[in-house]
Amino acid sequence: MKNHKCILCECENLVTILKIDGAPINIQKLLKKNELEEDHKINLSLVRCTACNLYQLGDLSVVPEDYYEDYIMTTSFSKQINLYIEELAKTLIEKYDLNKKIIYEIGCGDGIFCEYLNKHGAQTVGIEPSAAFGKFAEEKGITVVYEYFTENLSIPKNSVDAIVSRAVFEHLKNPNEVLKAMHKFLREDGIGLIEVPSFEKAIKFDRYYDIFADHVAYYTKESLVHLVTRNNFKVLDIFDSYNNEFLVIIFKKTAPLEESRFKSEFDIYKEDFNTKVRNLISENKSISMWGAGGKGLALLSMCDFDSKSIKYIIDSDTKKIGKYSPGSHIEIFSPEKIKSDQTDVIILSAMAYEKEILKHLEDINFKGEIYVISPRLTKIRGRI
Ligand SMILES: [Zn+2]
Repeated sequence: MKNHKCILCECENLVTILKIDGAPINIQKLLKKNELEEDHKINLSLVRCTACNLYQLGDLSVVPEDYYEDYIMTTSFSKQINLYIEELAKTLIEKYDLNKKIIYEIGCGDGIFCEYLNKHGAQTVGIEPSAAFGKFAEEKGITVVYEYFTENLSIPKNSVDAIVSRAVFEHLKNPNEVLKAMHKFLREDGIGLIEVPSFEKAIKFDRYYDIFADHVAYYTKESLVHLVTRNNFKVLDIFDSYNNEFLVIIFKKTAPLEESRFKSEFDIYKEDFNTKVRNLISENKSISMWGAGGKGLALLSMCDFDSKSIKYIIDSDTKKIGKYSPGSHIEIFSPEKIKSDQTDVIILSAMAYEKEILKHLEDINFKGEIYVISPRLTKIRGRI
């Protein structure tokens, strides 16, 4: 089965960068002597998404579905890596004020990162699908939940202070689903951290041996930023670490857009504008608008006004004079028009120039009423 869509952005335009024939099936499972006969090599291809620039395996079927259930990849035997992981834990907690806070680790493995996070004041929970791996974490006193990290975990929504993950995302075929679950469980302003091997280093130093079936995705800073921002997080920091072997991105959950309110208020906004203007018309007042810019033109058109209800539009831009508004078909005049053809009401749509326009209306001794369109149609001056 070929991977026809980018695992990050779903773009179908993937270009093949490299074909590697004769790769091992996977590098995490060492073989017993009696397994040698059945073992065979596979062919890999590395592709790049032309939209988000994520490098990834061209064929995802080379990674079996139950890969992680008895996965073991011990990392914490080396003193050098221990020093690095402790520094990362300490910096994260100090910089982002996570002392005494709850931190979940996705794929906690043998629990080394959790151990250092706890040492520096956090309260961690490790999520780890491999029982064989997670038992090493439990031996260190880490709380481990033996699950994959998905939205189905029984963690209260918006409750977790930080969620971290080291050496996981390069294995994921579904990175967006994991980010979505992170977004669900993190509190507002909650912190995320993802560390992956740096493919920038691999490219720079011809490290063809960094490409193997166990790693589905090969991140650069660009694609890592793309991954978190498209899942509604804001990047706080991104850096090379451990002699440029890894990339670390730290991000926070952004406040949700007021999208549902914005949508539901649309009809109310139009109704409000229409009613107020129609009321003025029913009082036999003549109405004009000042400002033939985008805002005024869009508003008149979407509220279905035309030259029968709006007498004219005023604008100081001489290039617009004598032309007509798109959609609403109202003629545009220079400010001189007000003097020769009085109007009872002027609606200001050019909010950015409000002061200047009011001054101008005063100078020409305009006696009528003045309204502005924001945030709702509001009278700012009555008839003098
Ligand atoms: Zn992509």
